[in-house]
Amino acid sequence: MTSNSVATFLSEHFGLTGQQISLNPIGNGHINTTMLLKASQQSLVVQKLNTDVFPEPEQLVNNARLIEHHLTDKHHAGDYDLAIIRHVRTVNDNFLVNCEHGVWRALEFIGGSYSEDVVANIAQAQTAANAFGKFALALQDFDAKQLHSVIPHFHDLAMRAEKFKAVLQHDPVNRLAQCQVDVDFCLSQFDLIDELSALDGNIPLRACHNDTKINNMLFCSHSGNAKAVIDLDTCMPGYWLFDFGDMVRTFCSPEQEDSTNLANVRVREEIFAAIVKGYVAPLQHVITEQEKQSFWLGAKVMPFMIGLRFLTDFIDGDHYFATKHANHNLQRAQNQFALYKDILRKETTLKTILNINTL
Ligand code: ATP
Ligand code: MG
Ligand code: MG
Repeated sequence: MTSNSVATFLSEHFGLTGQQISLNPIGNGHINTTMLLKASQQSLVVQKLNTDVFPEPEQLVNNARLIEHHLTDKHHAGDYDLAIIRHVRTVNDNFLVNCEHGVWRALEFIGGSYSEDVVANIAQAQTAANAFGKFALALQDFDAKQLHSVIPHFHDLAMRAEKFKAVLQHDPVNRLAQCQVDVDFCLSQFDLIDELSALDGNIPLRACHNDTKINNMLFCSHSGNAKAVIDLDTCMPGYWLFDFGDMVRTFCSPEQEDSTNLANVRVREEIFAAIVKGYVAPLQHVITEQEKQSFWLGAKVMPFMIGLRFLTDFIDGDHYFATKHANHNLQRAQNQFALYKDILRKETTLKTILNINTL
């Protein structure tokens, strides 16, 4: 199928009419293929879903639609002021269309907006964290158990550790010798698993976003304010500490996730403070004391767990994460461990920030 015929196919299914139909890539998502389908009167975001990551796309759409409904009710009640990304029905009243080219869905396009791939400044970090906080607040009375676990055990460190140990046993592509130092470091950090399991039953299970990166936020082109939380693909039951920790992981370092300039990989305390301030403010009346305390663990666990997954994939021969060169996953792992170590080094300062801003 050519790009033109995909555009025609999608515009027919999603009811776009007119002569001037165009289909062009939009954004820098890593999981799905995201395009802007434009006709003279209307634009839609169309996404080819990654069915390797999400083998059951119907469940993904069901989850997102349940959240859309809930947020819409909140919006009508005056309790949610961000835009809501809604799925668009096909002319046959479905949400997914299959063609030889894959499984596609369409979302309402939020015009007058932009996304960022790297946090530009402290104010923007606070704005984004605040919007993720509003999103979390709006979902705090949503029954998280209604959501399908589209990726089971997504933030289950014990499971990630088991997978890591299994791959160490086989060393399928003989890479272990190259990363023994990193492997030994990981093996020395598994107390984190006990720290996490000690929380089970003591903090509430929440509907979490689970991918709180800066490019999963749309900003208003005019004001720079947050316009919408997007990418609800991994919304699943979990703990808020994971959403908090993933913001720390992805906002705080001045270096990209795969940078090899490890000397500059560090947690910027002022960005950390902005995340705490922005995220906790909307939640202050509903967050429990133990949940607040657990954010420290979230900040530690997320860089460590993602680093562990990169290292596991490196030893396994790069099957999960797309790589640009042979050592890419190892470099990403080392980058995440550098961030994790800096977080450990700054424990006193970061805990002080958490307490000052949350109590
Ligand atoms: P990730 O790698 O974070 O999992 P993804 O592949 O799931 O990303 P999305 O985050 O859904 O893809 O979309 C990718 C990009 O497309 C966004 O960062 C944003 O720039 C743009 N985008 C997505 N949905 C919309 C929308 N409804 N309106 C405007 N732009 C959008
Ligand atoms: Mg995304
Ligand atoms: Mg996504």
